[in-house]
Amino acid sequence: MKKEVFDVVIIGAGPSGAVAGAMLAQLNRKVLIIEKEYFPRFSIGESLLPQCMAFLSDAGLVDAVHSGAEKFAFQFKNGAAFSKQGQETFFDFTQKFSEGPGTTYQVKRADFDNLLAQGAQDKGVEIRYGHQVLAVDVDDELPSVTVKSESGEHYTVEGKFLLDASGFGRVLPRLLDLELPSSFPVRHSYFAHFQDNICDANFDRDKILITVHPEHQDIWYWLIPFSDGTASVGVVGEPEKFDQTHTPEQVLLQFIEQAPNLKHLLADAKVINSVQTIRGYSADVTRLHGDNYALLGNAGEFLDPVFSSGVTIALKSASLIVPLIEDKLNGKKIDLAKDYAAPLKQGVDCFRTFVSAWYDGRFQDVIFFSEQEPHVRGMISSILAGYAWDLDNPYVAQSERRFNVLHQLCKSE
Ligand code: FAD
Repeated sequence: MKKEVFDVVIIGAGPSGAVAGAMLAQLNRKVLIIEKEYFPRFSIGESLLPQCMAFLSDAGLVDAVHSGAEKFAFQFKNGAAFSKQGQETFFDFTQKFSEGPGTTYQVKRADFDNLLAQGAQDKGVEIRYGHQVLAVDVDDELPSVTVKSESGEHYTVEGKFLLDASGFGRVLPRLLDLELPSSFPVRHSYFAHFQDNICDANFDRDKILITVHPEHQDIWYWLIPFSDGTASVGVVGEPEKFDQTHTPEQVLLQFIEQAPNLKHLLADAKVINSVQTIRGYSADVTRLHGDNYALLGNAGEFLDPVFSSGVTIALKSASLIVPLIEDKLNGKKIDLAKDYAAPLKQGVDCFRTFVSAWYDGRFQDVIFFSEQEPHVRGMISSILAGYAWDLDNPYVAQSERRFNVLHQLCKSE
């Protein structure tokens, strides 16, 4: 049988794969996405950052997200609120330093991912659901993937370029031996959707609420409201903090009881799906590309969920790689180390500074400091809104150094 050849083959139809596919289709490229699941399917990662909206706009997908918002109970989001031992603070993303959208949504990922995948299909991308990539060969000029179809047959397709957007499936890191342990410790997360029944009038559904555990500053919770009276609630911490003899539901509910603000807000909440667990989610790779392939989103590095940066990084990776693939397909010489891996890593490293500072408590000192300059807060707000590639922001350009100076000023309180 004649082998099928596409301009680009993408493994995975999550946000990075769908957005890369849509952008390539806009350039009239012939794109195949192999997706092992059937959509809509559950996925974690429900609080978007405003920077995402710019990438969705470039991919021609933002209108579909706005028009689907009401139907799919996407919750308008304009910021992030933080709570620690009775102290409360929040960042309004519309009061940020960087140019660009200041609002976004909290989304049920099953519907959001399905919407993006359908948008990509509408632009001409072929998606084969229920097909799983089993093997790859990137040694020839044209990379190829071996796929198990939904009926169990194996077949091979070639692309002029291969993108791994397989997220936690980590197809190329596994098959090409690219795995690198994350520099962050192993952490576990327990989470579920609740009928939240929150009746406190002071609760702001337009913001994600991040709560620090009253005794352990490295354990934290998310409360992500949707617009239909449901919410996603999760807790994150190192494994030894969770009693493994308890069921995931017992663990999550016990931890909610330990945080007074959540205990109050969720007093009448009811779990509406089974409590799920993700163990050891942080991951890294030795390299993000070869000559004829690149890793997008979570298939590359995943830091941590605390600042909801995962989907933003995934979409940024798609938006960086597509023009480079286009140049390559047009016969131009491209430098993926300089123009893909380095710029992507610059923003990831900025988030890394903030994630590290979150877990050792320095970020918490900074955000709860009472006399913060509004323009400094605007710069921090920009990063929390996902603008981690805006080098005009000093907290992006020199994140570690600037953050440490700021922390010295704030910790004296
Ligand atoms: P994915 O969304 O994982 O998509 C990968 C796709 O590839 C899947 O559909 C999968 O079925 C498919 N696939 C896998 N293997 C194969 C194969 N062999 N063949 C074919 N298809 C395959 N991010 C945020 O932005 N906001 C948040 O609030 C947030 N919260 C999080 C909370 C937790 C506890 C965790 C662990 C992560 C969180 N994230 C969050 C991160 C977010 O989940 C990811 O960053 C995001 O989903 C990455 O998108 P992606 O497109 O790279 O991969």
